[in-house]
Amino acid sequence: MTLEITTEYERFRCCTCNCLEGEIHALGCDEEKCPFCGGQLIDCFCAYHRLNIPCGLGTDAYKHGLTDAQDAQWRALLEKKGRVPFIEYPDACARCGEEYPDLFTVPDDEWRHYIEIEKRGVTLCWVCYDEIRVLIDGKGKNLRKPLKVGYDDEHQPIEVDAADLEKIAIAARAKNTTIQ
Ligand SMILES: [Zn+2]
Ligand SMILES: [Zn+2]
Ligand SMILES: [Zn+2]
Repeated sequence: MTLEITTEYERFRCCTCNCLEGEIHALGCDEEKCPFCGGQLIDCFCAYHRLNIPCGLGTDAYKHGLTDAQDAQWRALLEKKGRVPFIEYPDACARCGEEYPDLFTVPDDEWRHYIEIEKRGVTLCWVCYDEIRVLIDGKGKNLRKPLKVGYDDEHQPIEVDAADLEKIAIAARAKNTTIQ
């Protein structure tokens, strides 16, 4: 059986080494993942751990990295394990699925207040974030801590009351649906 990509689909390219999705990165590309730990290949310590090379402070490896011979051994290990091909996993809002949403920052305690523990590491678009805030705060009924801060069109914090915030969220939702 052969698998084919049947939809019109333009393959992503790696933003660093320019390889296409499904291909192996150019060796040394900072986007390549390590097949052993899943981390960034040029930055993890798997070469040292797998080859039993001490790499603590003051060691040769710490000062100079791998020797050519060690590097060759490491490459052989990598090839044997199988290097990780490039696939793009678009960063998307965990709630509405919008790809590559504008990033924004909120104070940590505010994030913890509105976002449940398991979801604190995910990406949200700010439309969804505002909606979550409105939903949790009971549409102005102040079911939880009252809101003091909303965000304007540029997502700069502004002082609002809950009714204002609801208007902002409704406007944002309308904006969102015209994009789709
Ligand atoms: Zn690459
Ligand atoms: Zn690793
Ligand atoms: Zn969203």
